[in-house]
Amino acid sequence: MQSRQRSPGQIAGIIAVLVAILGVAIPLLIAILLADRQGRETEMRLVSAYADDVLHRAETSISQGYTAIRTLADRNPAEPCSDESVALMRKLDLESSYLHAVGYVVNGHMVCSSQGREGIDFPLGPVDWVSQRHVRIRLNVRFPFDEADTYIVVERNGFAAIMNRDLALEATTNEEDVSLGFFQPINGRFMALRGYVKPEWVGSPTRQVPRGHSVRTFVDAGYVVAVARSNRYLLGAVAALPVTYMHAQERSTAMVLVPVGLVAGIALALAALYLVRRQVALPAMIRAGLRRQEFYMVYQPVVDLCTGEWVGAEALLRWRRANGELMRPDLFIPAAEDAGLIQDITRRVVELVTQDLNDVFSIAPRFHVAINLSPIDLTSGDVLELMGGMAHRMKAGPGNLVIEVTERGFLDRELAQGVLHSLRDGGVKVAIDDFGTGYSTLAYLENFEIDYLKIDKSFVDTMNLDTPTSQVALHIIGMARSLDIELIAEGVETGTQATLLRELGVQYAQGWHLSRPMAAEELLLGLQRARPRKLMLVSMAG
Ligand code: C2E
Ligand code: CA
Ligand code: CA
Repeated sequence: MQSRQRSPGQIAGIIAVLVAILGVAIPLLIAILLADRQGRETEMRLVSAYADDVLHRAETSISQGYTAIRTLADRNPAEPCSDESVALMRKLDLESSYLHAVGYVVNGHMVCSSQGREGIDFPLGPVDWVSQRHVRIRLNVRFPFDEADTYIVVERNGFAAIMNRDLALEATTNEEDVSLGFFQPINGRFMALRGYVKPEWVGSPTRQVPRGHSVRTFVDAGYVVAVARSNRYLLGAVAALPVTYMHAQERSTAMVLVPVGLVAGIALALAALYLVRRQVALPAMIRAGLRRQEFYMVYQPVVDLCTGEWVGAEALLRWRRANGELMRPDLFIPAAEDAGLIQDITRRVVELVTQDLNDVFSIAPRFHVAINLSPIDLTSGDVLELMGGMAHRMKAGPGNLVIEVTERGFLDRELAQGVLHSLRDGGVKVAIDDFGTGYSTLAYLENFEIDYLKIDKSFVDTMNLDTPTSQVALHIIGMARSLDIELIAEGVETGTQATLLRELGVQYAQGWHLSRPMAAEELLLGLQRARPRKLMLVSMAG
């Protein structure tokens, strides 16, 4: 059973749709990923900044508290509540932004303070823990003068500093979504906390930030978390934001990027569609071009390297579209082959050459005109009829017409052999084009009747260089000589190449160094100018 193959048009359509989808999807995806990354980074930075800020404020509070109790203890250890002492308390209180009050504690009761008699003789409640430096810390002290707020009291040898527990948090941010706190890293107890904090974020040894380290950020349990650790005190701070908050950030960033991605994607897709549609439309364009007579020929002389004489010319097809655009044959010939239009093209080429060079052989009887055939041309009998008609109308003698075929044309061996044999019987010579670039190269040469080998430009280019392919040209030359086949070198662009080829025994060449492809009139003019000179040479010899 034959498998259903898709036509080039269908494949091109599928490719266009894929490119269009990718064209839109990729920029969008990139925009979203970028937004995601940017949102996450923004979030992490924000949370770290919060943790850092809380830590800094807590450190300052503790530092101010310690300074105050040390100063009081140093100054007046014997009379802690003297007038002088209370005056010093007031001074220290005023100087310390984070301290609510400074005082002296006896048996868990404050007996004097910087705030006069406020809270005096009020029980402070149980001590929460005692630090390594014998500082007694109470975390939940409420005073009758301020029922709403909770205070932390740090006390050593009776001297005490009182600070508003939530001041460090409130000063950082009042945003409700943000969880904030500071804690004692060894026992994991929070001195102040607002919002949800998972104990493991600060309690688990693996989660702990080593001393002296900066902030550590991570995502856990739907929160972006930052934990900071003080390198001055046994103190840590934490900040956390729900991930939903992060998504809102991402969305707002993506809102900006998505339209940009969309516009870029659509532009890309449109460009791809244009190119693909053009490719799909090529066969239709070729048909229209044939109808509208948009094709014409140019001719590149084949030059005898010894005499400089033009011994022939290769007909090369040109297509100038109605909009003035010049299409290259490497582009439209393969498309025409795929679309089954190549035989129409070959017929047009034969027509054009017949018109252009109708009486060329009366001007130059030994001249040859070569046309390029596609492998498909060799598979039908039409080509014999076509070449026969051409020879007849141009009054071509044996060897005046040459066909150029590439090695691809020999794939169906027997068929090609038959067609070539008949063509040669009719006086048409055969040249193998681009010789050396195919893979079947050498084996078939002896079995085919061939008149010329055209050495591909790639070998001419590397011939005088020290590369592996530089040997190929020499090899081809030797082989052609042993089989008595004439050589035409292609794409000769320098005088050095021309000289080298001549010295190696290559008789003919084409190339920009010798002559560019030209219009038929120019070719005929050149041939007419050469004729008197040749006649003169002939008469001198006679
Ligand atoms: P090709 O048969 O190998 O033709 C030689 C190509 O090399 C021509 O390009 C010619 O203009 C170019 N050329 C000549 N001398 C030089 C040179 O010194 N340097 C360089 N860089 N290039 C040089 P063109 O005309 O663009 O043709 C390209 C190909 O298109 C041809 O390669 C041939 O395969 C195909 N083609 C051209 N005309 C026809 C045609 O009428 N029928 C068919 N079936 N194919 C054709
Ligand atoms: Ca050719
Ligand atoms: Ca060639």
